[in-house]
Amino acid sequence: MSVFEPVVPASVDELIAALPKVELHVHLEGSMQPALLLELAAKNSVMGLPASLEAVREWYEFRDFPHFIDVYLAAVQTLRDMEDFALLVESTAAALAAQNVRYAEVIVTPWLHLDRGIPAEHLFGGLERGRQAAERQWGIRLRWLADFPGHYGAACGEQTLDAVLETGLDSVIGFNVGGIEVDRDPFAAVFGRARAAGLHSVPHAGETHGPDRIWSAIHRLGAERIGHGIRCLDAPALVDYLRDTQLPLDVCPTSNWRTGAVPRDRPHPLPALLDAGLMVTLNSDDPPMFGTDLTNEYRVAYGLGLTPADLARNGVRASFLIQEEKMALIAEIDEVCKSSLRSARPAARPHEPQG
Ligand SMILES: [Zn+2]
Repeated sequence: MSVFEPVVPASVDELIAALPKVELHVHLEGSMQPALLLELAAKNSVMGLPASLEAVREWYEFRDFPHFIDVYLAAVQTLRDMEDFALLVESTAAALAAQNVRYAEVIVTPWLHLDRGIPAEHLFGGLERGRQAAERQWGIRLRWLADFPGHYGAACGEQTLDAVLETGLDSVIGFNVGGIEVDRDPFAAVFGRARAAGLHSVPHAGETHGPDRIWSAIHRLGAERIGHGIRCLDAPALVDYLRDTQLPLDVCPTSNWRTGAVPRDRPHPLPALLDAGLMVTLNSDDPPMFGTDLTNEYRVAYGLGLTPADLARNGVRASFLIQEEKMALIAEIDEVCKSSLRSARPAARPHEPQG
């Protein structure tokens, strides 16, 4: 049995499918399905990419984190006009809605596009068009977390924030730093400006580097949620802090195994994080690139001995939905659990003698 594809009873698969879910850590550019990559590469005459579905899937097999970044940068070259971005949003939203994801905070990296000369209106116009079309078609709601690759420096973060604020979309609700995990301290000023503009602070930290990056995200960037954060377990004082504050961690098990952030022959720390009393949510990161989706992450979590409904509730609680919306989704999760318990009971046998 592979940790990526655990064996799960049919009743648990049914429960996972029935649970209303939220996704808090999924990258738009990392959500490009192989078929859409081929379609966009052909439409925009992008050379040097794999030419068949099979070849794209092989290309998505990463050796390590830097290789993953290289593939990612090559794949985004296929996105050119507003229609391309809208198509990517709709395809991503369709995949989420099919898994009963009701609400997603989707990470988008404007700098990947603006830096190669794509006009901001193509990007943001496409995001908005796709988002609205997805909501009309499937009822799924999307909000954006604008991200920049930290290894390109603070200036890249400033340009990203300028573009976001100039465009002024209400659907952009958070600010994020990702990419290769460099020191977070130099981003204090740009995160301060983002927070002053009303954006939530949701940086990646503690994915491939240790607790110092997480402390920095907390103290210097004002993090309201941490992307990954799994390396907090290296520092007991940090674990205590995260437990006391219930500062949520966006955890993405398959991603960690695929990039090598957690060695493939080691157990994932997700159960240890929950055992420590931390507020942990379950997410898919870059689903087609890691051969997963949110449903599979729930199956993986079940394989690690965890309870799907508890993780679904944590996702809702750690989201930026308003309180009434959170309560409505939690009530739905509770109802799904009750009816799954009812259907799991053996049927009554009324003709058996009583007493
Ligand atoms: Zn991420």
